[in-house]
Amino acid sequence: MKVQAYAAVEAKSKLTPYTYELGAIGPEQVDIKVAYCGICHSDLSMINNEWGMTQYPLVPGHEIVGEVVAAGDAVKNVKIGDKVGLGWLSASCMSCQECMDGSHHLCANNEATIVGRHGGFADYVRGHWSWAIPLPEAIDMSKAGPLLCGGITVFNPIILANVKPTDTVGVIGIGGLGHMALKFLKHWGCEVIAFSSNPTKKAQILEMGANQVINSKSPEELEQIAGKLNFILNTTNVSLDWNSYLSTLAPKGKFHTVGAVLEPMAIPAFSLIGGEKSVGGSPVGSPTLTKTMLDFCVRHEIYPTVEEFPFEKVNEAIEHLEKGKARFRVVLKK
Ligand SMILES: [Zn+2]
Ligand SMILES: [Zn+2]
Repeated sequence: MKVQAYAAVEAKSKLTPYTYELGAIGPEQVDIKVAYCGICHSDLSMINNEWGMTQYPLVPGHEIVGEVVAAGDAVKNVKIGDKVGLGWLSASCMSCQECMDGSHHLCANNEATIVGRHGGFADYVRGHWSWAIPLPEAIDMSKAGPLLCGGITVFNPIILANVKPTDTVGVIGIGGLGHMALKFLKHWGCEVIAFSSNPTKKAQILEMGANQVINSKSPEELEQIAGKLNFILNTTNVSLDWNSYLSTLAPKGKFHTVGAVLEPMAIPAFSLIGGEKSVGGSPVGSPTLTKTMLDFCVRHEIYPTVEEFPFEKVNEAIEHLEKGKARFRVVLKK
């Protein structure tokens, strides 16, 4: 089968139309006809080879929703005609300790959708059945794509940190990931504080469910909430003054990062020891938790706030995101 896609041919290049041959389907694989695909910051990092692992030509795209159009003989759980989503991961070994434990996203031999293979900026994409997540019937396909990577990335920490409805929580960075975290935590029942230094976003952040917006560049505003937060989720990938955020944690509070900060995070031991505070991180989430999250989204009508571009305008869409103009997630439509 020939696949029509958009590819980067070298680091920082614009995407250009690219056709490739998808070989015979494996027994446990499915082919998905792409309906929508979100653009994630990881797509930009891969296009620009920021992590040193990009193979060109690269077809980005890993926030895919579409329909199963082909399935190998040994495929389970999904069938031709099903609506499914495919995120950052497209396969895992299915036999290691982590896979057998249901934590497929922690499998050492998993396959990422746009690492060494082609992703969803295309009319078709292939994956192992275990990562083709069945979509609830009532889901809004036009907004669901970003839930498959950005959404599960911020949903998983809420479960991992055992966040309670009675908790006061903070979200650092209200962009593609952070705005989805706000919506989840609001529906979880929490008192939600958004950390943002962009005053132009304030009204929208409050509308999306934050109870309060704190200017993270103001020591006085941080001081107001010292010792109050049970959980902080960091979604930015830049170095911040982590110690000042840790001072806003309540005793036993947890600081969790999903932002891939490249520099070492300087965290003084004493800011953790006295209050039994902890610092952690996580990648996406398991297929099962992704399914659970999608059901939760449908039940509460939680969707990312998206801006839609046709696939033909993929370069404009990428530029929009790169310039920090996205409010709040960009989705490509076939
Ligand atoms: Zn992503
Ligand atoms: Zn495995």
